Amino acid sequence: MYNLVIFGPPGAGKGTQSEKIIAKYNLAHISTGDMFRMHISNDTELGKRVKQILADGMLVPDSITIDMLEEEVTNNPDVKGFIFDGFPRTVPQAEALDKFLESKGSKVNLVLQLEVNQDIIKERIAERQKVSGRADDDASKLIKRIDEYFSKTVHVLPYYQAQNKVDKVNGIGKIDDIFDDISKAIDKSL
Ligand code: AMP
Repeated sequence: MYNLVIFGPPGAGKGTQSEKIIAKYNLAHISTGDMFRMHISNDTELGKRVKQILADGMLVPDSITIDMLEEEVTNNPDVKGFIFDGFPRTVPQAEALDKFLESKGSKVNLVLQLEVNQDIIKERIAERQKVSGRADDDASKLIKRIDEYFSKTVHVLPYYQAQNKVDKVNGIGKIDDIFDDISKAIDKSL
């Protein structure tokens, strides 16, 4: 199995680039944000528990997120590998993922860090909100999400750097040019 973590702040282009990676490398996409939104729109028990947390731009507790992710991986035993988009967002999530994949005889092969600056993030999310209607794309909620990123999620990077798994790609520019750089990074790690 080949497993890729796509990493970056909200608005870095993780979702957009994930779609292109899936098409080229035939990986299964797991976006914890999409999964939570699906639960909320289907009004499941889990959806009810996390609705307000997402609306506030806060992180869902680790235990809930990890259980949901592990179930999704377990339910897809026959795939070539996964692209994890929006997960892990905390060091305990990264540790849990390592342990879980190891129990399946697998591991994280590459962490792709999409580098963007805060001005670009704000511009892109303002554009996205016009089409997505996502409540958490609202400027006041976005501040909280960026906060969560810089207080909790950035610490995931040194965790993977210590394992020599991080490759940086410039996330500013044309979608196809960024994807070319991503492809080169993936090809190197195959
Ligand atoms: P995203 O679509 O990845 O931007 O995620 C949207 C929201 O879902 C986040 O702001 C969090 O509230 C929640 N979420 C998604 N992934 C995670 C995660 N790995 N850990 C905690 N909360 C998450």
